Amino acid sequence: MGELDPDLLQNQYMPEFLLERLHWIKERKGNGSLRVVLSRNMGRAHMGAHTKDGVMYISINHRHFIRRSEYLNKNDYDRRGIRNIFALALSHETLHLEEMAGNHLYKRPFIDDIEEEMFVRGVVYTKGSKPLIEQKEAVDEDALATRNTLILCGEEWLTCEEFREQITRLYKYQRTTKSAPLQEKP
Ligand SMILES: [Zn+2]
Repeated sequence: MGELDPDLLQNQYMPEFLLERLHWIKERKGNGSLRVVLSRNMGRAHMGAHTKDGVMYISINHRHFIRRSEYLNKNDYDRRGIRNIFALALSHETLHLEEMAGNHLYKRPFIDDIEEEMFVRGVVYTKGSKPLIEQKEAVDEDALATRNTLILCGEEWLTCEEFREQITRLYKYQRTTKSAPLQEKP
């Protein structure tokens, strides 16, 4: 957990939702029901979540993690900005894990993976990146791209066609093509 420990004084500026999610991780790591691991076999995905033999896993793409840290350093994200970005990404994965564990997040089952992703991104945006942006905190281009798309739809995530298209493109990119997925500017 290190620098992202939600009990550290340095993290108390974070929105309630992120602190709650980081506590969720800390508690489960502590009792062995969750492991956060670096993985070398993830294709283009940055992070992923799965369960195996009753243990939950959040996998971080090792190669991407290193490239990402270099990129963020080069682009003048300070440690706090980097913490924001990883806190948002980890919180995202916890919502998938909740869903896998049967703690359904929405009032009906999701139609497909894309819809689950739309929901998860919508929640993380509204409760995580949006308040951070309002606090003038640094977030990454993914969060800004989500914001820009959701603004087009009045933040109605699950019915937002542009949002579905954006996520569908991202999924395809992670599995196949070589073009960059999200290039929108703030
Ligand atoms: Zn996801």
